[in-house]
Amino acid sequence: MEVAVIGAGVFGAWTALLLGRAGHQATLIDRREPANEQSSSAGESRVMRSAYGPDEIYSAMARRSLQLWTSFFREENCPECFRKTGVLWIAPSTEASVEQARKIFERLGIAYDWAVAKTIEQRYPQFSLQHDSVGIFEPDAGAMRAERSVQAVVAAAIREGVRYEMAEIRAPVLNHSRLDSVEASDGRRFSADQFVFACGSWLPKLFSALGEVIRPTRQDLFYFAVPNGLDFFGPDALPIWIDQTEANIAYGFPDLGKGLKMGFHRLGPPFDPDEPRVLSGREEIAEAAGYLARRFPLLQNARLKATQVCHYENTPNGDFLIDTHPQARNVWLVGGGSGHGFKHGPAVAEYVLDVIAGAGSREFRFSLESKQGDLGRRVL
Ligand SMILES: Cc1cc2nc3c(=O)[nH]c(=O)nc-3n(C[C@H](O)[C@H](O)[C@H](O)COP(=O)(O)OP(=O)(O)OC[C@H]3O[C@@H](n4cnc5c(N)ncnc54)[C@H](O)[C@@H]3O)c2cc1C
Repeated sequence: MEVAVIGAGVFGAWTALLLGRAGHQATLIDRREPANEQSSSAGESRVMRSAYGPDEIYSAMARRSLQLWTSFFREENCPECFRKTGVLWIAPSTEASVEQARKIFERLGIAYDWAVAKTIEQRYPQFSLQHDSVGIFEPDAGAMRAERSVQAVVAAAIREGVRYEMAEIRAPVLNHSRLDSVEASDGRRFSADQFVFACGSWLPKLFSALGEVIRPTRQDLFYFAVPNGLDFFGPDALPIWIDQTEANIAYGFPDLGKGLKMGFHRLGPPFDPDEPRVLSGREEIAEAAGYLARRFPLLQNARLKATQVCHYENTPNGDFLIDTHPQARNVWLVGGGSGHGFKHGPAVAEYVLDVIAGAGSREFRFSLESKQGDLGRRVL
């Protein structure tokens, strides 16, 4: 089977790799290089974790993806691409989804540790928590090197025979129930039996009907200097943390080389990924610094080293979009990572290969039909 995969972010890269491994003739097309700095897969790090509250489907996919990522990094000899820091999810003791995640971990056999605020503070004296907080710690979770990992996946795909083409694909004209080829802005045409559009925040630019389905938002990231001479904030001392005791859901990484990185999972303002990126303003920086000072007393007045602007490609409910286009049955829409998609690259690609082959059951939550309404309930 000949497959054109448009978009070399984490979803397209893994799809191309698995197509190549399965012996299909795949062409991976991107207007730029894999995980380029405009894409959502760009940047230093992403959280790999399995806790998803009541959403067992994502816990199971994360567990499967972790297996595939780790064996991939072993085969490719990139130990630096995954750092097992552990991930600590902190929430109010009344948060039902913590208990739901625990039950799912028990069922799926995922290792975890549960602790109250006092125990967390004894284990990690860097934190100052509200007394009624609890935490789930996943020891096997950690930090993935985002760009580097996607580049390694594309390099492996090319070794498997996948062709990489730098081309900007125009919005396809869908007059028939099948698409025969796509056209690039330089006039080249690419034909295939199946077309996988894994174009992240750009999907609505290629398919105007997705305007309400994929809604990109601006997300700011902050890198702070950590105190010299104290090994409290390195990856051996501090886990990644996700703090749901804050309304804007703060999260952060230990210092992996560029400083302590943090951001907020709360959705930012609507964003056009092609517009020039205006740096974070004073208000955003003050919010991040205020949070750090509250949660980590040693980081009061921490020096800001850098900021970065990224974008989430949100669906209304945070579920992925993996479905055929209603007007062309060989056009696959793959996206909607919604701020949590990176880790799932391998499992998403397995699902895509299955559905293209007509094997396995289709998940309603990934369908286009399920993506109605305003940005509402979010997958965390
Ligand atoms: C700040 C931030 C933090 C995040 N944290 C996490 C995390 O901790 N854990 C986690 O699992 N996930 C996280 N995510 C989410 C995750 O990074 C994304 O869901 C994932 O990277 C999306 O990948 P993608 O392949 O769908 O899209 P992208 O990476 O955006 O790739 C889309 C590609 O399509 C190409 N393209 C677009 N239009 C065209 C065209 N017309 N022709 C050719 N090519 C085209 C683009 O150039 C781009 O390379 C985070 C995201 C952000 C922004």
